[in-house]
Amino acid sequence: MGHASKIEWTHHTFNPWWGCTKVSAACKHCYAQAFDRRTGGAHWGAKAPRRFFTDRHWSEPLRWHQAAKRRGERQRVFCASMADVFEPRAELNAARERLWDLVEQTPNLDWLLLTKRPAAIASLAPWSDSWPDNVWLGVTVESDKWYSRIDRLLRYPARVRFLSCEPLLSDLDLSHYLPELDWVIAGGESGPKARPTQPEWVRSLRDQCADANISFHFKQWGHWAPDPSGDLIALGKKRAGRLLDSRTWDAVPHYIG
Ligand code: SF4
Repeated sequence: MGHASKIEWTHHTFNPWWGCTKVSAACKHCYAQAFDRRTGGAHWGAKAPRRFFTDRHWSEPLRWHQAAKRRGERQRVFCASMADVFEPRAELNAARERLWDLVEQTPNLDWLLLTKRPAAIASLAPWSDSWPDNVWLGVTVESDKWYSRIDRLLRYPARVRFLSCEPLLSDLDLSHYLPELDWVIAGGESGPKARPTQPEWVRSLRDQCADANISFHFKQWGHWAPDPSGDLIALGKKRAGRLLDSRTWDAVPHYIG
């Protein structure tokens, strides 16, 4: 699926395929799997096939690139919302190679490659010491059990290195890592079975980023949000919104040309 995105921190999303296998606590209520099921798919799990797409789908980022170039802009593409681009699975290699070519053909697009499998980057990415300027490489760190993903991320000299702390499931101390990072995105979990994100965990990330002069983006509370007294209540994603201390937090790193 490729489309103009309603997600505030990216302009487009692009999926080289659909499907994945769960790897950590962040995956427990995987929204992508739920969406796949709702649309009649069965592409999750080690034994399930993945869903692949036509040439028309693959041509969309080329159009986004041309439009951005005409306007003299850069646009961000989140890749992937319905998969993990570094899932180590031979069936995915052809689409992955096509993705790397596409990234190199679209210099006016900044590709946000987010993974929970940074251990696979070394064997699956074609760039070792020299990454294209338009790759923003990120890992999910949903809890303090996953600092090792940051250590792996920092091995790669991507122009922008970021963390997605979503769904945020514990307090995080990123002080050791922030000097080498460019961006932190945080958010709570959606859906009736969502695990609550404590407001002090989000505030702590915001404050750590401010102290380190790192861009911080708060996506949303998700299902649970604090009421005026600070107690968490189940409001549902729409009502919970994305205000933290009465304002939005929308920082995005500036591209350094
Ligand atoms: S890695 Fe992402 S797409 Fe894959 S199961 Fe986990 S949350 Fe879902």
